Amino acid sequence: MGNGISILVSRGQISILDEFVRDNQPLEACAILLGKRESNAFVIKEIVPAQNRDSSIVRFTIDDDMLFEIYKLADKKNLSVVGIFHSHPSEPYPSSTDKSYMKVNPVPWIIKSTTTDEMRCFISSDQVNDNESQIEEIEIKIRD
Ligand SMILES: [Zn+2]
Repeated sequence: MGNGISILVSRGQISILDEFVRDNQPLEACAILLGKRESNAFVIKEIVPAQNRDSSIVRFTIDDDMLFEIYKLADKKNLSVVGIFHSHPSEPYPSSTDKSYMKVNPVPWIIKSTTTDEMRCFISSDQVNDNESQIEEIEIKIRD
């Protein structure tokens, strides 16, 4: 995590995400995180729950139409998509499918494990430097 990049999430937002994950059990929950990028920090301002089209416990897909609506909403609120959140019924590390989608969507990806309760965040390092694309972990900073 030596890249200096972080994502800022408030305690209130963490409880919203926790509740959302519980409500979706045993399916994977996913949400789009809207906010602003302030130099090396992605600041979450709003959480938009997204329906998991796959209704799967091990993967998720967000409908293109829904994604389009979310981008429109972000635009209206003068915010950007600063992250994608989803839960895993396993360790909070990106799967190989996640990794390929992360390259297409080089925003922070927060993964919450429903087994260990741990939350970690990763980003495709295309965003970080021009070296070969790889997935890097970034710090989750909790604010009040
Ligand atoms: Zn995943």
